[in-house]
Amino acid sequence: MIIVLRPGTTAQQIKHIEKKLTERGVAVHISKGTERTIIGAIGDDRVLAEMPLSSMPGVENVMPILKPYKLVSREFRKENSIIKVGKEKIGGKKIAVMAGPCAVEGRKRLLAVGDEVKKAGANFIRGGAFKPRTSPYAFQGLGEEGLKYLAECRERTGMPVVTELMDPRDTDLVVQYADVIQIGARNMANFRLLKEVGLTRTPILLKRGLAATIKEFLMSAEYIMSQGNHNVIFCERGIRTFETYTRNTLDLSAVPILKKESHLPVVVDPSHGVGIREFVAPMAMAAVACGADGLMVEVHQKPEEAFSDGDQSLKPNAFAQMMSDLKAIAKVVGRTI
Ligand code: PEP
Ligand code: MN
Repeated sequence: MIIVLRPGTTAQQIKHIEKKLTERGVAVHISKGTERTIIGAIGDDRVLAEMPLSSMPGVENVMPILKPYKLVSREFRKENSIIKVGKEKIGGKKIAVMAGPCAVEGRKRLLAVGDEVKKAGANFIRGGAFKPRTSPYAFQGLGEEGLKYLAECRERTGMPVVTELMDPRDTDLVVQYADVIQIGARNMANFRLLKEVGLTRTPILLKRGLAATIKEFLMSAEYIMSQGNHNVIFCERGIRTFETYTRNTLDLSAVPILKKESHLPVVVDPSHGVGIREFVAPMAMAAVACGADGLMVEVHQKPEEAFSDGDQSLKPNAFAQMMSDLKAIAKVVGRTI
């Protein structure tokens, strides 16, 4: 249920409504917009129907949320959510660019590529310290050592860190280092992990599952938000289809659909989306053109030596060229980069 409050409703009136709801076991999510404060009341529909919500002081209107995703939906919040990460924002006018290697491979390599992407205009450093690999014998990531190098890169460049959390048991560790926690495609439906990160207040970049529908993707975000963490960012990274030319099929139609269904920001990862270096920049252009709020791009100085995802990693000069080309597209759609 959405409870829309009248402008000028007092803090005491809000507290009163909150108390009445929580007494009946209903979860309360308060969202303060620029014009209106609304309360998302999530609980048993029968209990909510019995309550005299519309006659409570301060209440203007009460509406059911018809979609199965409640807090995530546009019905819950009309305005776009802007997620603040240090001095950066995701979901505002400026396109957020998260760039860096697939995996943190070593201190020197990470700091060098961090300097390069920063110079080219990236505003977040990305890199995996815990890697979800198809083979248990492939490089699994440097773990905490990798997280330390990411933190050093942040110190040096000012760029916030985006890094993956794979296991709920590592949450406390990753929270110490990450500014944005990435939930990888393979874990999009790991509900235990989603609930765990929902209990933190760190922004979560939720990647779409390899075979997940848009509705399932929205429901996974709802898992996180239901635990109180409203700082969720969608990341479209391609899905499995019958097409074998590319690593995945980048579903750019998900961008305007997610923007319609949800108030949360949407980032596109063209690197995993296509898996082929040559097609990363064109898909990044298309992503910005269709309304993406950000990009996640893999960059490596020597892709041929990369421990993972070398085929889709851009060299720093190609990344810089892409960033420069994106300026014109961003301008056309009223954004900056
Ligand atoms: C990654 O970002 O390196 C990654 C493993 O992504 P995904 O979970 O989308 O495959
Ligand atoms: Mn990768």
